[in-house]
This record gives sequence, structure tokens and C-alpha cells, in this order.
Amino acid sequence: MLFQFAPIIPVYALVAGLMLYLSARTWGLRPTRGATTWSMTMLFCGIYAIGTCLEIAFAIPVFKLAMNRLIYIGTTGFIFFWGIFAIQYSNEDRFLNRITISLLAIIPLVILCLAVFAEQHSLLYRKYEFVYENGLLIGQVAAYGIMFWVWIIYSYLVLIGGWLLLLRAALRSHAMFRNQIWMVILASAAPLLIYTAQLAGLNLPAPVYPIAFAMVFAGIVVLLAMTHYRFVDIIPVAYDLVFKNVKTGIMLIDLKGRIAGMNQAAEQILGRSEKQVLGVEALTAFPNQQQIVKQFLDVNEIKTEIAVTDVGPYYELQIAPLRNYHGELAGRLIMFYDVTERKQIEQQTLELTMERERVRLLQQFISHMSHDLRTPLATMKVSQYILRKELAGQHLDRLDSLDKQTDRLTEMVESMLTLLRLEEAEIGSLSKVDVNELVGYAIVRHQKLAREREAQLQFIPTKDLPPVLANSEELSLALSNLVVNAIYYTPGGEITISTLCDQDRVVIRVRDSGIGIAAEDLTHIFERFYRVDGARGTQNGGVGLGLTITKTVVDRHAGTIDVQSRLGEGSEFSIRLPMANTG
Ligand code: ADP
Repeated sequence: MLFQFAPIIPVYALVAGLMLYLSARTWGLRPTRGATTWSMTMLFCGIYAIGTCLEIAFAIPVFKLAMNRLIYIGTTGFIFFWGIFAIQYSNEDRFLNRITISLLAIIPLVILCLAVFAEQHSLLYRKYEFVYENGLLIGQVAAYGIMFWVWIIYSYLVLIGGWLLLLRAALRSHAMFRNQIWMVILASAAPLLIYTAQLAGLNLPAPVYPIAFAMVFAGIVVLLAMTHYRFVDIIPVAYDLVFKNVKTGIMLIDLKGRIAGMNQAAEQILGRSEKQVLGVEALTAFPNQQQIVKQFLDVNEIKTEIAVTDVGPYYELQIAPLRNYHGELAGRLIMFYDVTERKQIEQQTLELTMERERVRLLQQFISHMSHDLRTPLATMKVSQYILRKELAGQHLDRLDSLDKQTDRLTEMVESMLTLLRLEEAEIGSLSKVDVNELVGYAIVRHQKLAREREAQLQFIPTKDLPPVLANSEELSLALSNLVVNAIYYTPGGEITISTLCDQDRVVIRVRDSGIGIAAEDLTHIFERFYRVDGARGTQNGGVGLGLTITKTVVDRHAGTIDVQSRLGEGSEFSIRLPMANTG
């Protein structure tokens, strides 16, 4: 008779099937961390179960001995891959290299070789016998050899070592993934305990073999861990990566208010390492942030902003309840993002808006005031005229001075109003303007003033100058300011106005041989009310707004204005305006 039957045989067959199924399932999850090694662990477990199943089933000693080899292939492979898996899954991969893997493989390989030739030596078994028990032929070891004990010690070391690694990982890992590690620990503990009991002589009579039941139990637990808790799944790996690398500080607090975990970003922000604070109550863990911790000690859900000091850094703090798989509250998840940059931008925007409002109010005030000044100034002018007549030549000096000051005030008011209008109102109607014509008019208009100041006005136009798209009134004002300045600051000198084409720009150049402008003043002359000290001595009644108005007009026309000047040698102002699209 080739086979014999015992009720335990189908149990082992079931274990084998279960293990092979688990192995195939995990294989499909590659290259997730631990998937390959766990698949191999399960495969060798399956081989062990097949070997044991057949070893019991065969009723012929030689076949039984052959199956005994299969059992060794199963156990050695299982122990080896279990060790590697435990190292990988507990995140200690850094210890895995060719040398450590080879070291871990040496003893299983030696034992496997010894098992293959077990009858040729007595290192594994000193006495192996076949006996009949309850009507079944059973092969059993009557006396073990030295290498068997070496193997037992090695297996225990690897099993318990791996076990401890996983235990440590379970304690350190985040609540979400702790359960799956606990389940693997549980699964591996059952066979280990029963195996130990067997070795210790607490054996049930053959052929019950409680180890088979322990393996069924382990298999079911692992199956549960895989289906229910996503064991050896990509999610924990992804979670781990995100949790570790994300810039948001994340902290887990358990129900007793103790720190259950925190990521690198939280470590950096809070200045404490996870090791230092794990299991410690939040208040004790962060003595420097007592105030903030106290404020949120009992808060389960909130989204708010906090500032570590009055001037930052600022964080957006979010607290969310953390629930376990059954929906029960398990702790709190605390997240903080650094929003200092955003806060600063918000602050700057606020300041800018306030500043704009201040400027707007000031402009409004100046506008009202300037309008209000117009009427009294006009009245003063008329009164001075009447007074001049009535006084018939008397007090002429005083009247002249009064006249001059009134004119100056009036000019200031008018310039202010012009500038305000230019700054507030949209640019008026645009048309194609012939710049040569515009300069011609300006020369005619200011010829009288030039003669009074004994200045020569000269115009060098460029022929066929393309037009510019402009508001001719504004442009004429801008040009006038330059010409008037040139006349005032060039007594008895020469002023040349020229027009030219430069790439896609039309250039108006006003050059004088006047007093010039010092380098330190050049950067300021376009600022409002800026007047060079020397200019105050001239006969110019300007108020320091002419160039500001000119620049504002040029800017409104998408043009540029620049100046070159040397003190005592003269100045040259150039306005560049985009050509009108002549097409
Ligand atoms: P102002 O009414 O005083 O002329 P502007 O804004 O027109 O005011 O000019 C600002 C200052 O720039 C003047 O006070 C003067 O010192 C200087 N400036 C302007 N144009 C010339 C020039 N052509 N030559 C020398 N200085 C000039």
C-alpha cells in the first residue's frame, strides 16, 4: 500500500493551498516593499505543508524520507525569507546587503545539504526510526544530532529577532498601520509557540500535529491582514513617504494627549525630535510653546492661524479627529503649514492699499484746496490791477513783487491741478500727431520769452518723420515745459530742438547750452517739487512740477524720457515715443 490516511492530511493540504494562494497574492503586489520576500516566505511555508502532508500520507519509508527533504526545503527557505522580510518591513533595509544576506543564508544552506544526505551522517539525526502508531506508519527522530540543535537555535534567533524588529516597528509606526504589523506578529507567534511546546515534549499524540492548526490560524490572520488592513500594500509605503517628506508638520496625539508620532517637518518646526517626545504629554514635550499647546489642548477640530511670535513665523493650524477602522475616536491629527510668506504678502498688500487710500485722500484734499484757491487768487489779481491804477505809479516795487508772488501761486495751483488731472483721468482722445508741427508751434509760442531771455531758439527737424499716436494737447504741454526750462536755464545761450527717428521710436531732443545740472540732482529732477538750489537764483518762477508733468505725460504715451547734462555746459532732454502704426 502506497498511501495511508489520517484526518490531519486534509488539514495540511488546506494549509498548503492557503499558503500558496497567499504567496501568489503577495507576488502580485510587487514591487511594494516586503511583497517579494513575504511571497517567498509563504511559498516555502506552503512547501513545508505539502512536504508534511505527503510525508504523513506515504506509507513507504523511502518516500517518507524523500518528503522529509521537502520539509527541510520548506523550513530553511521559510526561516531565511522570514528574516529578510522582517528587516524590510520594519524599515531597516539599510542593513540588507550582499554580505548580510549571504550570512543569513549560510546556515539554512548547510542544513539543507545535511538534510539531503541525512542518512550518510549523524549530524542531523543520530537515530531515525519508523514506528506504527494508531495504525499509521510514522517516521520519527529518536535522537537528534548536533547540527539539528544548531538549526533550532538559528531558527529561533531569526524568528525571535524578526519578531522583535516587527514589534519595534509596530510601536513606532503610526496608528493607521500598527494593526497590520500586530497581525503579522500574532500570525507568526502561533506556530512559534506550538513548535516550542512540541520541542519541549508537550506533544499531542501523533498524528494530530497541532502545528498544522497553528499554521491554518496564521494563514487566516495573514489573509485578514492583507484584505482588511492592506498589509504589504502600496498605501503604507505611500503614506510613509508622504508623511516623512511632506513640508507640512504633522503630529499624532493619542486619546491621553500624548505624542504618538510626528514627521520630519514637525520635528524641524518644533525643534524636537520624534524620539524625544514619543509617548510624552504635549505640554511637557513642548515647554517653549506652552501657551499655544494650552490653547488647543482639548480642541478636537479646528482650522486657524497662529503666530509663534508677534512678527511670525505664522502657521495655519489644523486639528482633525483621528478615528480607527471602526470609526471610534483614536486621537487627534495636528497639522501645521508655514504661511509666513503668505501672511507677509497679505500684510504688504494691506499696507499698500492703506497707502493708496492715504494718497487718494491727500490728492483729493490738494485738488479741493487748489480749486478753492483759484477764486481768491483771481480776485487778488483784479484788486492788484485796480490798486495799480489808483496808486498811479506809486509803490511800483511793492506792486510788482505782489504781482509776481500772485502769479507764482497761480502757476503752482494750475500745475497741481494739471498733475492731478493727468494722474487721475484716463488719457484723452488720441490722434496721429505730426511731431515736427508740434515743435514748430512750441517754438512760435515761446519765441517772445526766448527773446526776453536773449536765448536763440533753433529747430532741426527730420524730414518724413512718422507720426506718433498721442493726445496733442498733453504732448504739447510736455514739450513746452522742456522748452521753457531750456530758455530759463540758458540765459543768452543757444537752444536746439531736433526731431529724429530711432528704430521704432520718434525722438524729440531739446538741447541747451545753459547752466546744466549736477550729477547728484539728475536722478531727482523728475520728482515733484524738486528744484535744484541753483535754479532758485534764476528768474524762473517755476514751482518744481514742470518735469514731473512732462514725465507723467510721456509715461501715459508709453514713451520714455531721459536727460544728459553737465554742470556749466548745458543739458539735453530726449523724449522717445512709439511711432503710430502707419498702416
Ligand atoms: P521748475 O519749475 O523749477 O523748472 P521743473 O520740474 O521743470 O521745475 O525742473 C526741476 C528742476 O530741474 C529745476 O528746478 C531745475 O533746477 C532743473 N532743470 C530743469 N530743466 C533744466 C535745464 N534745461 N537746465 C538746467 N536745469 C534744469
